Parts: sequence; C-alpha cells; structure tokens
Amino acid sequence: MVTPVEEFHPQLDNARGLLLEAARHLDVHPSIIEQLGSPKESMTARLMVRMDDNTERSFTAWRCRYDDTKGPTKGGIRFHPDASLDEVETLAFRMMCKCAVMNLPFGGGKGAVRVDPRTLSRAELERLSRAYVRAFYPLMGPDRDIPAPDVNTNASVMGWMVDEYSALAGKPQPAFITGKPIALGGSLGRSDATARGGFHVVKNLEKELNLADCDKTVCIQGFGNAGQHMATFLHNDGYKIVGLSDSRGAVYCADGIDAYEAVRVKHETGMVSALAGMNGIQTMDPDDLIAADCCLLVPAALEEMINKDNAHRVKAKVILELANGPVTPKADKILEDNGVIVVPDILANAGGVTVSYFEWVQNLQMFYWELDEIHTRLKAIMDRESRAIWELAKATKTSMRTSAYIHALRRLNDAIEAGGTQGHDDSR
Ligand code: GLU
Repeated sequence: MVTPVEEFHPQLDNARGLLLEAARHLDVHPSIIEQLGSPKESMTARLMVRMDDNTERSFTAWRCRYDDTKGPTKGGIRFHPDASLDEVETLAFRMMCKCAVMNLPFGGGKGAVRVDPRTLSRAELERLSRAYVRAFYPLMGPDRDIPAPDVNTNASVMGWMVDEYSALAGKPQPAFITGKPIALGGSLGRSDATARGGFHVVKNLEKELNLADCDKTVCIQGFGNAGQHMATFLHNDGYKIVGLSDSRGAVYCADGIDAYEAVRVKHETGMVSALAGMNGIQTMDPDDLIAADCCLLVPAALEEMINKDNAHRVKAKVILELANGPVTPKADKILEDNGVIVVPDILANAGGVTVSYFEWVQNLQMFYWELDEIHTRLKAIMDRESRAIWELAKATKTSMRTSAYIHALRRLNDAIEAGGTQGHDDSR
C-alpha cells in the first residue's frame, strides 16, 4: 500500500510517542491524547518575492498553530533549505509542551520558509520576511499567534516583520512578535536568554547530574546564538570548552578553548575551524565531535544530530539539549542504557520563550523592565521547573525527558478539562 504524502509525518509520529509514554503515568482521557496528537491548524503558502535582479522567485512557507488551550500560540520562524510541514508541526508540538513545562500562558506554534538565507541579499531577505507576514496575517496576532526568532532568523528579521504587521493592522503592534530589536520594543535580556536558561538548569542540577565531580569539560555542537552564549556562560563558571563545531567544521583542544576568542573568530570569519592553529587547537571531523572526550555535550544546532547510528559513540555523562529535538527516540534508548543523562530540550532551551513571554507582557503593559528584573524572573522559573522535573523523574523512575512530558501533559490536561468536557461542536 502506498502511504499518501499527507499521512507521512515521521517526526510528528516520534513526538507523539513521547506524549503516549507520558500518558502511561497519568490518568488522561483518550480524547485529550487525540486532541494533542495532531495540530489545530496549519497553513502552507507560496511566497512570491522580487529578487534584486528584478526576477521573481517563489518560496514555500508554513505556519502551524498546534494547540491554543493554554493561550495564544507561540513559537519561532526558521529559514532553512530542509524545512518541511512535518518539521514545522513537530516543532510546534514541542513549543506547546515547552510552554506548558514553564507554565507560560501560551500554546504552541511554529513557522518556516524553505530557503537558504545565505543565498539572498539583505534586501531580498527583508522582502521575504514581509511576504511571510502578508501571507499568514489572518493566522497571527498579539492575542492569537506570536512568532519569534528560530534557526537563521534574528532580531532584524523580527523588526521587518513587526513593521509589516503594524502597517497591515494600521497601528503599532509590538506584541505581535518577540525577539525584536530593543528600539522597536524588544526586551532586554532576550538575546542570551536561551543559553542563560540552559545554564541555570546546569547550575541548579549540577550535583544531581554529577557534573560537580567530573572534570567540567564541554563540547558544543553548533555555534550560533545559543551555542556562543552557552560557551561564555560555562567558561566564566570554570567549565573548560574542549570541542566546538558549526556547519563548516569542528575544532578540539584538550587544554581548553577560550570562549571569548572563539566568539570573536566566529564573528570575524563565520567558522570555528578558523581557530585551528591557535594555542594548540586542532581541527577535527565534525561527525566526531559527539564522540569526543568530555563531561557535558551541548547540541545547539538542528534536530536528529544524535541518532541510532552515532549515539553509542557518546562519551559525555550528560547531554544538554539546547537545540530542539537533537536526540532521536532510538538514540535516547541507547544513551539511557549507557547511563548518559539527557536534559530535554523542552526544559533546557526554554529560557528563550520564557523571556519572549516577558517581552510580550512588557509590550502589552507598555512598561519596560530593567535587566535585573528579567534575570531574576528567568532564574526563578528555570530553577522551579528544573527541580520539579528532576523530582518527578525520581518519583516516577523515568528519564528526565519522560518526566518533562508528564509535567507538560498534566498541565495541558488540567487546562483542557477546566474548559469543559462537552467540546466545541464544529457541526454548529
Ligand atoms: N525559537 C525559540 C524556541 O524554539 C524561541 C521561541 C519563542 O521565543 O517564541 O524555543
């Protein structure tokens, strides 16, 4: 039998598996699992964009609002040549769970454009970003669906998008998007929030994860915004960064790599391999980074980097998922059997969406907070939820991943049940 194309969603199937595993530990009505097992709405659009040479190019784009029981849907927009609807819906599902783990008043959403942004000029990227907002305008809004940066998008892209949205709405709408430039209502502390949140998780559970007794060596896979900030937070705390990689190469140095130097070289040359030759730093095959000798491995790039083919090579004691979905379910099993603890993405990288929430609140209140207040509030939430997930993992004798999903599902279940059991009657 041929599987119809629209029924083929291997990534979302994997994610649903996490939900089913969590449901085994809770008393959840099957209709709730059914609701959370598929997206509320997804839209595909063709964006026509004028290139600098006056030709037009078309790009496929998506926006998914996975579930909005707990609030407006929230999640980033990525620009990537391998983007697909399956990936967008899976990432939107993860956002729903992440917001529930942090107890934010948001549901889950996500968007993407299938494009390699490195092939576009700045002006072309701006026109593409504006076309995205025009296409999905009916779906989005400050109280409906709130985008943010993700892979290959940044504050500049958010700035163009909020400008386009406000023009269409006929009034300034800063709360429409988060991760904006500060000059347009962005929040202090948003740019390093993902890494800062992950760092709080490490510090909060350092003893429990046995990180306090190991040699504090770290490898970071992916050296974009989150990876760079994580390197400096860990470096400042006495951890030793021994391995780094990006999409173009990798470097290793058993004596440690200066995180500030690495960030400077990355900004100047665009590649970590340009560090090779400095202070005993050597290049290595990027595929070998996950197998390098270290205590803490931080995947900070894309999904499925640690999978059934390479999970057995991991030597680290702990994996902190700063990327979304970097470890596949099959790899999870191999790692668990080998005693490697995985701190799951929906906790480890949730600092970003948490400060996005602070940004949205500030925009709605038109009252802006000092950096100290952002940092204090972020730490309090990260500490609270890291502890809760660790305790739940102990109580249920499950992995941190399963306990994070139990924690999320419990909150989603409570919200759905509180909304009544008779459902929305779509036949009305
Ligand atoms: N893209 C980030 C994530 O995956 C941030 C999302 C947001 O701030 O809404 O968590």
